[in-house]
This record gives sequence, C-alpha cells and structure tokens, in this order.
Amino acid sequence: MHKCCSLRLKRRPQRRTNGLQFPLNYQQIIGWIVCVVSVLVNFLLLTRIQFDDLKFASLIIYSFVYAVYVITHFAASLVDPGEDDLRKRDINILPEFDRTIHAHVIENGRCHLCNINTTDRKTKHCGICNKCIFKFDHHCKWLNNCVGRRNYTVFILCVVSALLITLFTVILCLIDIYIYFVSPQELSSAAQTFINCTQLEDFNDVTKKYCKSSIYFLIFLVTFCTIALAIACALLHLLCFHIYISILGVSTYEYIMRNSHTKSICCKSCRTNIRRLYIINQDKIKSNAIVSSETGVNGENITQEHDNEISVKNFINTLVTDELNRARIFFLYEKSKIHPSNEGRS
Ligand SMILES: [Zn+2]
Ligand SMILES: [Zn+2]
Repeated sequence: MHKCCSLRLKRRPQRRTNGLQFPLNYQQIIGWIVCVVSVLVNFLLLTRIQFDDLKFASLIIYSFVYAVYVITHFAASLVDPGEDDLRKRDINILPEFDRTIHAHVIENGRCHLCNINTTDRKTKHCGICNKCIFKFDHHCKWLNNCVGRRNYTVFILCVVSALLITLFTVILCLIDIYIYFVSPQELSSAAQTFINCTQLEDFNDVTKKYCKSSIYFLIFLVTFCTIALAIACALLHLLCFHIYISILGVSTYEYIMRNSHTKSICCKSCRTNIRRLYIINQDKIKSNAIVSSETGVNGENITQEHDNEISVKNFINTLVTDELNRARIFFLYEKSKIHPSNEGRS
C-alpha cells in the first residue's frame, strides 16, 4: 500500500455515490420545497385562473416541462460522475490526505486518495463527494452531487427546464394582470366569481372594481410573478455562464480558479504600483525642496504640478497595461500541465 494510504492515518468518510445519499444538503431540501410549492400553485391556482383555451394549453405545457425537470433533476442527482475505475470498485474508506508526503491530491495523473490513475487532465478529486470526478465541472449543492462529464448534459437540461417553468409562469401572470385590468370577463369563471365585487351590499364606483378579494387576487399575481422572475433571472444567468465557459473551453472549476488567480495577481500589482507611485512622489518632493531653495516659491509650484501630472499619467498607463495583461492571462489556456493521457498528443 502507498505511504499516504497506510492504516495509521486518520480515516476520511466513505465516498458518496449519488446526491440522494445522506447527509442531505439544506439547499437541496430548499430546492425540493420550492419545486413542490411551485407545482401546487401553478396547477391548483394559476392554471385555474386562465380562460378555457389557455388553461388547457398551460396544463399541457406545465405537465411536459415539469416532467422533464423532475427526470433530469433526479438523473443529475443519481448519476455517479466518478471515474470509471472508481465506480467498479467497492466503496471503501478513504485515507486522510497527508501534505507532508504529497503537495497535491492528484499528481502526474494519479489520485493518492482514491488510489487510481485518472483518465483525463480535467479529473479532480471532490472533497465533499470524496472521489475523483471525470471531467469535473463543479460540486452542485442543489443536487448534492458533483457535476462532471457523465451528468453535465442532464444538469444543463435540468437548468433549461427550470428556466422554462419560471418564464412560463411569468408570462401567465403578466397575461392575467393585463386581462384583469382590461377585460376581467375573459378570466375563468372561478376567477371571476372570486374577484366579483358587486356581491358586496354597499359598493360605490371604486369598491365595485377593487374590493378586498380583487386586491388579494392582484397581490397574488404580482408577488408570484416577481418571485418567478427573480428565479428566472438567476437561472438565465447560470445558463449564460455555462454557454460562456463552453465557448472559452473551460469548466466552472477552471474558470473560478483562473479568475481568482488573475485577481490576486492584479491586486498584488496594484499594491506594487501604488507603492512605486508613493516612492516616486516622495523623491520628487525632496528634489523639489532642493530646487525651490535655489529658484524660489513660484518655481517650486510649477515644477511640482508638472511632476505630479507625469506621475499620474504613468500610474494610469501602468494600470491599463496590467488590465490588458490580466485579460491576456485569462483568455490564454494554460497548457503547461500535461496529463499522462495527453502526453502522446503534445
Ligand atoms: Zn480521488
Ligand atoms: Zn462533489
């Protein structure tokens, strides 16, 4: 057995096989609750408000999109994105990683914890799932599972179907709000009965149109529309991000790592530039003091203003150059680290 895997080291938890395994994540449970609540509200309230034709169409659309969402959600949670070699093995207890022996969990294509040879350069060992993920993208807390090559497609389909549900909800709410103000008689008979204010004994022109129940109806539509829109924006942002990184040819993990790396480079260089500017200014002030003693007060002011202007220009130039360098580092794909499986190709 390898040194790092010897029995004397502290044991890590067993590796996880899917997202429905205990312990569950609280975000995963919140996601389920939101899904169940949205099903109840959409099927029991929102579709019942629509006029007959739209009610029928919305029931079909919701049934189809929810079915896709539930299937892809459970598929993304249940598919084991681990390395092939690992999935064939029995679940064993992993050793604690010893940094005094190895600098990284995966070195030269070998994982010192899973005790396997990884098959791809993008394979990463997830500390939460305790296993090597083939073409690792990220660990999703909403699924309580890692997203890798094996479940990436169903993960994206899950996001798309959730986005369609929320967008359709927003559209239905907006249609209902419009109909409520323009021609409420086009709403379903159940909705018309609910918002009918004429049943009140004493009503004037205002209460006739807006009584308690009709205001509740409007508040429900606006609130539900706002919540659905907020979730839709978050999902759209996530989807656009995945389209963007697929164009760049990097995974979520690689994107985050490079971004944080380049940010730290920028911060370091900014601090260095500010320090450099401070030192230059101090030198200028000292030299101006010497010049002023020879040329007088007016000469000192003119020279100092001129030097300050040059210093600010230099500083801005340095910042712009750093930003350009940062962009160049970000868009360049780092090919220095060669995985054994890619050695032949390079
Ligand atoms: Zn591993
Ligand atoms: Zn994971």
